[in-house]
Amino acid sequence: MPEIAPIGVRIGKYLDVPTAAKGPPVDPKKGYRLQDLGDGLYMVTDNIYQSMLLAYDKGVVVIDTPPTFSSHLPEAIKEISSQPVTHVVYSHAHKDHIGGTHSLGGTPIIIAQEETAWRLKRDNDPDRPIPTVAFKDKYTLTVGGKVLDLSYHGVGHLPGNIFISAPKQKVLMVVDTVFPGWMPWRRFAVAQDVLGSMSQVEEIANMDWKTFVGGHVERTGTHEDVDTQVAFYHDLKDAAGQALASTRPGEGVDAADMKNPWAVFDNYVDRVVVQCVNTLAPKWQTRLAAFDVYIWDQCFSMEQTLRIE
Ligand SMILES: [Zn+2]
Repeated sequence: MPEIAPIGVRIGKYLDVPTAAKGPPVDPKKGYRLQDLGDGLYMVTDNIYQSMLLAYDKGVVVIDTPPTFSSHLPEAIKEISSQPVTHVVYSHAHKDHIGGTHSLGGTPIIIAQEETAWRLKRDNDPDRPIPTVAFKDKYTLTVGGKVLDLSYHGVGHLPGNIFISAPKQKVLMVVDTVFPGWMPWRRFAVAQDVLGSMSQVEEIANMDWKTFVGGHVERTGTHEDVDTQVAFYHDLKDAAGQALASTRPGEGVDAADMKNPWAVFDNYVDRVVVQCVNTLAPKWQTRLAAFDVYIWDQCFSMEQTLRIE
């Protein structure tokens, strides 16, 4: 039997979150925390979601507006500038990261990748105003001498999800791809392309930056955090690959069920995933926060990716 409770089996207590995964506390009266990243750039977070602000002489650029704290964004902006919001950058189209844009008011220039722009046009959601500037590969935003380099690196998490680099501050923001100190959200953070998301994590590891902003969890990330996620993904791929190679479909299935291919494969996939989880647990359950919460999803997703894609 697996040591980690399978999907659908509720347990009384999840594994403790390691101290290394924790960040500075959020003042509950404010509902957000500002972290100075240098030269007018700040991270805003409620220790669950993360966005950024870039203040320059005539205005403020807002990068993502997570609805969990977007009602506090006007106060956060007032802490760092008395100027209006002139630009909004969307990391990608998902509502949980940009669905608070309406709460900024005004008519800022909204910048996103083309895929994000057409999704938002299609969805016609008043919470996520349609971008006014859409780019394909690269876009450099220069405001009051401050620079953000936006670039598209293909499909990983979602088509249109971009890399946002502040070269002077040596900050890189890529959302829903690296989770410093934590197990990624279920199924590779519901990546539309699992192997694409994996290779983007490797790309991030090889880039030059000092502080990483991932859009989630309690703190910013370091190169060590990204290297840890690369190592975890490699171990996960190896464990799922070995489990697929050593497991035979149909073993132990009731003879009467052998004409039910869905049942035969459900049984097969279950055994592959159990082996994958048990292989990874000893090394990783104390190294990544919430390992036990999502390891079943990750093994299922990798098994599916390696077998089908
Ligand atoms: Zn997303």
